This record gives sequence, C-alpha cells and structure tokens, in this order.
Amino acid sequence: MKIDLHSHTFCSDGILSPQDLVERAVAQKINVLAITDHDTVAGLAIAAEHIASQQLPLQLIDGVEISTSWYEFEIHIVGLQINPNDPELLARLESQQQRRLERATEMARRLTKFQVPDCLPAVLKLANGAALTRTHFARHLVNIGKASSMNNVFKKYLARGKAGYVPNNWVDLATAVQWIHDAGGVAVLAHPLKYNLNGKWLTKLMREFALAGGDAAEVASPQQTPVQKREIWRLCQLFELKASVGSDFHQPTQWNELGRGLYMTDDIIPIWQNWQLHTVAGTEIGSDPKIKTTEAAVESLPLPQ
Ligand code: AMP
Ligand code: MN
Ligand code: MN
Ligand code: MN
Repeated sequence: MKIDLHSHTFCSDGILSPQDLVERAVAQKINVLAITDHDTVAGLAIAAEHIASQQLPLQLIDGVEISTSWYEFEIHIVGLQINPNDPELLARLESQQQRRLERATEMARRLTKFQVPDCLPAVLKLANGAALTRTHFARHLVNIGKASSMNNVFKKYLARGKAGYVPNNWVDLATAVQWIHDAGGVAVLAHPLKYNLNGKWLTKLMREFALAGGDAAEVASPQQTPVQKREIWRLCQLFELKASVGSDFHQPTQWNELGRGLYMTDDIIPIWQNWQLHTVAGTEIGSDPKIKTTEAAVESLPLPQ
C-alpha cells in the first residue's frame, strides 16, 4: 500500500489543481491520499468529484493543515478524516483566512520599506482566490528579481525575524486540535523537524501537543533520515501518539514527489490503523496483519486493474 497523508493544491500554496493532484497521485501509484491545504477545505469536493467521475483507483482522505501559534513558533496541525461540510469548521477556517488577509496586508506594508513597491495586488492576483500564504509572496518576490530562489527569498525576507515577517497570531495548539476533533477528525503534528527546535523544545512540543489531545505526529517526511524517524517515533511512544506519513507535496521538484520516501519501520502504530481502507477492489486492508507497515510508501499490493 502506498499512502501519503499531507499534500497541497492551488486552493492554498500548491501548484496543481485538485484534479491534477489526484491524477498525479494515481500516476505515482498512490492508493490513499490526504489533501491538506492551509486553513481551507476548498479542494476536497473538487478532488472527490474528479476521482468519482474518472473512476480513479484512489481513496481520498479529507484533510486540512491548520496554522497555530506556540511561543514564537508557527506550528502546523494536520486534521485528517474531518467532515469538510461541517459548518462550524468552515466558519473557524474562515477566521484563519481573515487572519491571513490581515497578515498579508501588513507584510506588504513592511516590505515597502525594503524597496518592494506595494505588492498586495500582485500577490492577490497570484493567489487567485486561494488561501493567502507566504509562498505567494515568495513567488512574487522571485518574479520581480528580489531573490534567486524560493529558499533564498524566505531566508532574506519572509522567515521569522526578517523584513517581511509579521509575528504570527494564529490560534493555539489546543484550539486547532479541538476544531479538528469537533469536525470528526484526528489531529496530527505536521513535520516536527521543520521548526528548527532543539531536542528539549521538540520534546516539549510533542508533550504539549499530546496533552492538548493530539493523536499522532508525522514520523515520515521526505528527506528525513532513519535516525530522525526513530527519534520522532520514540517521542510518539513516550507521549502515546500514533504515526503519520506525508510528503507535504506542493509541486514537483527534484527533492519532493507525492508519496516518495515515506518509509517507516514495522513497529510503528499508524494513524490509519483503524481506518476502513479500500485500496484493493474493495478489500479492507487497514487491519490486515499480513500487510506490513514497513515502508508505507512501497507498494506491497497491486493496484486494481
Ligand atoms: P504561511 O502558512 O503563509 O506562513 O506559509 C508557510 C508556507 O511557506 C509553508 O507551508 C511552505 O509551503 C512555505 N515555506 C516555508 N519556508 C519555506 C522555504 N524556506 N522555502 C520554500 N517554501 C517555504
Ligand atoms: Mn505550504
Ligand atoms: Mn506545514
Ligand atoms: Mn503542508
């Protein structure tokens, strides 16, 4: 089974449409895919419709990635198996979108002091109705020649403490977990090694996330070494969290592809342990002891013909 529980479409800062994303997942032989756009569920119905109309052999997991503030850090919490039609969830995500718009306005204002003429209209145009993210600012700044790459533009202008950075004002961890639970989902700490936390702070984060009711952490992300995966899983065990896997795919690059490199060892307890997975012609494989979780991303079952 090939499973990827973290990906983006152009409804937030991904490049692909929901239709193209699910087509790509099928081409990559993925059986189970979660779409987890930043603070929006707008792509889910479109993806589901496309899967149904094209009869794609792919199980879609309804997801979202919620931005939270924890001390000075921006911590991302992925919600999986949420009800994307829950009116309360939609209203709550709308409040995050409002914060995004306010932050973007302030970012554009700050950037004018650094020889970037008011860029909000151009950034809004690039976003084209999507959840407004720093990625859209980064694309614009690269377009106008302020930096040579996305990585450089974050380093120079958009990372914490840099010219265009606006101190975050998201909801807190416990609130995001509550929102996800209220919408029927499970809460997953996204990419725990992406926050540049030292061991002490990472342990504190995992503990506080678990205390807030969190359910799992991403043990496998691209480019994480086996030792790093072991370390996250060890913290998961300490705080009774399950394991998730996700590429955090935004666009095809040399380093990132849907479902690639999400290997895990047999002993982890996956977040999808009790899910009804129908990846092989209706066969439920979620709790089949014959299916190894070693290498979540490696096909151990054929796709339906
Ligand atoms: P936001 O949610 O608006 O703060 O934007 C965060 C997004 O920016 C992340 O989800 C990434 O997609 C992107 N991002 C953050 N850091 C970098 C980086 N160094 N290079 C490229 N993209 C980045
Ligand atoms: Mn992103
Ligand atoms: Mn993230
Ligand atoms: Mn993400």
